Amino acid sequence: MLSNKFRLYPNKEQTEKLEFALDTCRQAYNMMLGELNDQVVIDRNMIQAILPDLKICEPRFREVYSKTLQYECYRLFSNLSALRVLKGKGKRVGQLKFQGKKFFTTITYNQSGFELEHTYKKNGRLKLSKIGDIKVKLHRIPEGKVKQITIKRINDKWFAFVISDGKKVLEHGNKVLGIDLGINSYLVDSEGNKVEHPKLYEKMQRRLRIANQNLSRKKKGSKNRIKARKSLSKIYEKLTNQRNDFLHKTSTNLIKKCKIIVVEDLNIKSMMEQKYFNAKNIADSSWNKFIQMLEYKSENSGVQIIKVNPKDTTKTCSNCGHIQKMPLWVRTYKCENCLFEMCRDKNSAINIKNKGLGEEITYVEIMSDSSSEGQLSMKQEALTSMEC
Ligand SMILES: [Zn+2]
Repeated sequence: MLSNKFRLYPNKEQTEKLEFALDTCRQAYNMMLGELNDQVVIDRNMIQAILPDLKICEPRFREVYSKTLQYECYRLFSNLSALRVLKGKGKRVGQLKFQGKKFFTTITYNQSGFELEHTYKKNGRLKLSKIGDIKVKLHRIPEGKVKQITIKRINDKWFAFVISDGKKVLEHGNKVLGIDLGINSYLVDSEGNKVEHPKLYEKMQRRLRIANQNLSRKKKGSKNRIKARKSLSKIYEKLTNQRNDFLHKTSTNLIKKCKIIVVEDLNIKSMMEQKYFNAKNIADSSWNKFIQMLEYKSENSGVQIIKVNPKDTTKTCSNCGHIQKMPLWVRTYKCENCLFEMCRDKNSAINIKNKGLGEEITYVEIMSDSSSEGQLSMKQEALTSMEC
């Protein structure tokens, strides 16, 4: 499956129809939710039975493409089911909330009701049932058959997320790399290459602060307040775009270099280390998203991704397997056993790689006779001259 995002340029009439469809879907969702929130048992048939009733009572529901409404039915159904599963596991869960206008920003055409036409150069037309022929800028042609189109409004701009069943083939390289995701650098690989944190949030912080102040000074309900809120969300939009850009570039670069990439299993890592992370860095790093990107790009290119338990990867000496304490502020791994020295993150990345390849070093106690000490110091000299 491939996903592409395209900008739509609806005219005034189409924009009104899109807004109308959004609002109608939202109302349908809320009405169905109102009917179902208190039910103990819910099945799919029950939800489907409500739609025809809605259409009879309220003619406006007939003016929206029926399958987009049906899609909301399914969405509600899967939300409710997910909630029930959580409840079943003994988790404390609340009820689903009614969706306000600001939060309901997508409508989905699944399987039918749309047609995507490519005219010439980057111009295209997206035909949507009950909306019309919308101008669309196609920076590339979606490969394969289009399966679903989601229309989303982001800060008064309209976008189509087109999902097709094509396969993009990415070329890959020959390296085998371990990757350490960290606080000091965004990532360090087992060859010592670094990618620094983009610090996007930090760079935008001043603008965000000003926009926030600006918003708080405006009177509630005033036009200026709406304006101020819009300019704030535009900054956030820009931030999201920049971050996605960074993640795409970084993950594609790795795929191009490697045939095997070993990463830490983040589910385990987050539990161990997250409390130490700087909140701003977390906002920027989106490691989960990065790993997801690596994974789907690996599927399209034939690169193997191996996830390993990050336990002890920072504490282990990648040279002899000795394990020692490594507080967060210690930047260099200095092995107490074999005197090996290396930049902390690179040492971890090598351990991660070894773990992934099943080549974990087990610690062997070194005899302290004079001959082995002599060998060690030579080895140490060689190793410390290596750059991180
Ligand atoms: Zn060592």
